[in-house]
Amino acid sequence: MADIRPFLDVKLHVTVSFKSRCKNCKTLFKKKIYDYGILKYKELEQKMDETKHAIKQIICPKCETENSPESIIYIDELRNLTITETEINYGNLYSTEDTNKMKMEEEHKKRFEIFNKKEEEFWEQYTDYAIVNWRDLINELNDFEIKEAFEKMNINSNANTLNKLSILHIF
Ligand SMILES: [Zn+2]
Repeated sequence: MADIRPFLDVKLHVTVSFKSRCKNCKTLFKKKIYDYGILKYKELEQKMDETKHAIKQIICPKCETENSPESIIYIDELRNLTITETEINYGNLYSTEDTNKMKMEEEHKKRFEIFNKKEEEFWEQYTDYAIVNWRDLINELNDFEIKEAFEKMNINSNANTLNKLSILHIF
């Protein structure tokens, strides 16, 4: 796996959507249900721990039929990357109000297990993205973050502005 340390302070804009194929007209559609805003990865992790997403019906934009979402998707809006897509398991979900809540708790916990399992995959994708879009990525960093990265790589640099750094092309 790639060394992800330089990316831990990178900002992500993660949104959450439900996805479903309409049971009536078979249109595949998504409905955004939550926006975490722009956060650093570590802050995002924290916020994800505190945030619950209730599973609710979504309406097909084409024929207006109500559908149960089939999967929940986490998207990084800044890079247009799907971080994870997880199928929603409806086994025994709607028996009573209480078991419904319990099931939600379970699903909630499972979500983080899945996210953690997919973390490596995400960072691999992210690293691929970073290599191709390195200049964009550098533009998202602060001067001190770049200096820190130089220090970690034992590269001596007298550059003191982002401009000077970005013309070095050494990454
Ligand atoms: Zn439809």
